[in-house]
Amino acid sequence: MCGADIPCDDRFATWCTACDWNVDPGGEEPARSRFEATQRRLAHRYGEQLHAELLAGPDAASAKGDRSGALARAVALAVHGVTATLAVGGVLLMVLGRNSILQCALGIILLVTAVVLRPRFHRLPDTAQVLLRADAPRLYELVDDVASAVGTRGVDIVVVDGDCNAFVTTYGIKGRRALHIGLGLWEALDPQERVALLGHELGHYANGDLRHGFFIGTALSSLNHWLYFLTPAHSLHRHRTIPEIATDALMAVPRWGVYGIALLLEGLTLRSSQRSEYLADRAAARVASTAAAAALMDRLLIGDAIRSALRTESVRAQTRIGGAAPRAAADGLWERIARRAATVSEREYERRRRVSALRGHSVDSTHPPTHLRRHLIEAGEPAEAAVVVGPEAAAAIAAEMAAVRATIARHVIRDLAG
Ligand SMILES: [Zn+2]
Repeated sequence: MCGADIPCDDRFATWCTACDWNVDPGGEEPARSRFEATQRRLAHRYGEQLHAELLAGPDAASAKGDRSGALARAVALAVHGVTATLAVGGVLLMVLGRNSILQCALGIILLVTAVVLRPRFHRLPDTAQVLLRADAPRLYELVDDVASAVGTRGVDIVVVDGDCNAFVTTYGIKGRRALHIGLGLWEALDPQERVALLGHELGHYANGDLRHGFFIGTALSSLNHWLYFLTPAHSLHRHRTIPEIATDALMAVPRWGVYGIALLLEGLTLRSSQRSEYLADRAAARVASTAAAAALMDRLLIGDAIRSALRTESVRAQTRIGGAAPRAAADGLWERIARRAATVSEREYERRRRVSALRGHSVDSTHPPTHLRRHLIEAGEPAEAAVVVGPEAAAAIAAEMAAVRATIARHVIRDLAG
C-alpha cells in the first residue's frame, strides 16, 4: 500500500487508485481446457495486433486476412472431405460387402460416424423464448432502424434468455437471422446502451465473419465432435486397466492430429473474427454514439457481478433464506438487476477497467480484450447517435417484453441454483 486515502464501500472491493493495491482480489479464472487456454492466448495476441493496426489506419488490418481466409477455407474443405469420404466409404462397404458381416458392420460404423460429423444448419433451441414481429412491433422497429443505420437488414426472429450476453446467428437452410438477447445484459443497460448493443450485433451481419459462415463454422464444429470422440471418458480415474491404457495410447495419435487441425483453423479464423468485433464496435458507436458504445464496454465488465447476483437470488429463493418464496423472488428480479447495475460506482468501474487491462478481460475466449475495444471506440471520430430511443419507445418496448421477462425470471430463479 502506498498510503493514499482509500474510500471504503462494502458493496465493492477496497483498492487503491494510486498504487493499484488490491485492484484484482479475485485473480483470473483459469481456462477450462488446454484448447481454451491457447484460444485465449491467441485472442489476446491478435486483439493487440489489430488494435494497433486499426488505430494507425482505420482501413488497415484487412490485407493479411485474405490469405489466411483462403487457407482456412482449404482446411475446412479437407475436414468436410473426410466426412464425405467416410459416408461414401461406408455406403460402398455395405453395398459391395453384402455377404460379409464384418464389412457390413464396418460400413455401418463409418456411415454413422459421417452422419454425426455432418455439417448441420444451426437450429433454434426448443426451450427458447421467442418474440415474433407481431409480439413486439416496437422492438423490431428499433432493430430495423439500427440495421439500416449500419447498412444491413433486420432480423427474422428475436430469442430471449436469462444470460449476460447477446449474439446473432443465422439458422436453417434459408439463412434466416436470429438475434439473441440475454436479459442479464439487456436489463443492465440504459436505452441508448441497448442501441449500442444492437448496433454491435447487427454490425456483425454487415461486416461478415469467417467463423460464423456456414462452411467454416460447420468444419469447426465437426472437429469439436472428433475431439469429443477421441477423448477418453475415463482419463480422470486413477486406476486404468491394461486395455484402457492401450486404447488411450492408440487414440492419442489421431487426437493430437485433430487437435492440431482444430488449432490451425482456430488460428486462421480468429484474426478475422477479432477484426469483425472491432468493426462491430465501430458500427455501435456510429449508431448509438461514441459515449453509449464506450458505456456498453463498461457494462460488459460487470457481467460476472450480475451473473453472481442472479445466482445468489436463485439460491436464496431455493433454500428459502429470509423466507423468500421462488415466485416472489422472480417478481421484480430484472428491476433489482437494473438497479444494481445503475448503482455501480464510477470508482468500481475504474477498478474493473484496470483489472481488464491487467488480465486482458474479454467477454469470452474469442473476443478481443474489452479495454482495447473501449480504447478504440474512444479513439475514433466522436459520433453522435444516429438512432435515439426516447422514453416513450423505451416504455413501449419494455411492455412488449413484459411477458417473456416474467417467464425468464421464473426460469432463472428455478434453474440457476442447481
Ligand atoms: Zn461481437
